[in-house]
Amino acid sequence: MRRDYYAVLGIAATAGPREVRRAYQRLARQYSPDVNFWDERARELFEEIAEAFRVLADPAARQMYDRYGSVARADEALGEGRRGDDAHAVVELTFAEVVRGTRVRPDVQRFSPCAECGATGAREGGRCAACLGRGVRRVVEPVGVTVPAGVDSGVQIRVAGEGNAGPFGGPRGDLIVSTRVGEHPFFQRKGDSVHCDVPISVWEALLGARIRVPTPSGEAVLVVPPGTTGGQVFRLRGQGLPKLTGESTGDLYVTVRLEVPTGLDARTHELVRQIERLMPIETRTALERYRGGAQ
Ligand SMILES: [Zn+2]
Repeated sequence: MRRDYYAVLGIAATAGPREVRRAYQRLARQYSPDVNFWDERARELFEEIAEAFRVLADPAARQMYDRYGSVARADEALGEGRRGDDAHAVVELTFAEVVRGTRVRPDVQRFSPCAECGATGAREGGRCAACLGRGVRRVVEPVGVTVPAGVDSGVQIRVAGEGNAGPFGGPRGDLIVSTRVGEHPFFQRKGDSVHCDVPISVWEALLGARIRVPTPSGEAVLVVPPGTTGGQVFRLRGQGLPKLTGESTGDLYVTVRLEVPTGLDARTHELVRQIERLMPIETRTALERYRGGAQ
């Protein structure tokens, strides 16, 4: 007959691992069959003590035992083959994986059916030693998870039926997967829109150009109109990230940065001077009224 394991060892339910071991060692010595060979009661007690120690010294077993308050109630709850609890895992994703969606196989710590006893918790002659009669064992195993395109950090993906196995053949709970998405060196993400900086030459800015720019899913042609200024932002529709709902795709915002050549030689210097004379620009007349802090 099973009893309250804490009472058997004479310790509080809050006792730490060392206390559990010390209580067991003291009692085991006292009721050792070697000492009490003819005393049947002592032998029974010794078995109870050993069983209490087996459960309370095993963190997973103790947790299970604590959850039900007593072995009798645990047996009742477990006997129903109830559904297991949800399990949790975290996956790290790269920006590229988020663009297309991916399939990952994170290692998940969860209870799985005990193969030793076929999840029954019993073996010939008593309890299954491998799972301590619970029918499930804590294992770490890879679980396939489909990650939809467009996930961001902190999204939770629920994978039905991949959580902890219920004791004694009970169905599995769900697996809750939290996502963490790494930074990209070139693309910055804001929700489903993506931002990047692209350098263009001052000649491209002056004359206009068609330039190839990287996009999350490949490449696009950006038409830079003549007279483009540095810091100007161009929107490329539908070149951002897919919305999680799958119904549309965000936009890509390209900020152009002007690259101005340095190290002009005498000839190029003179040519630029000529252009300046042909096209003088009054760039700062509007600022004159602010002189001396006037408004
Ligand atoms: Zn087992």
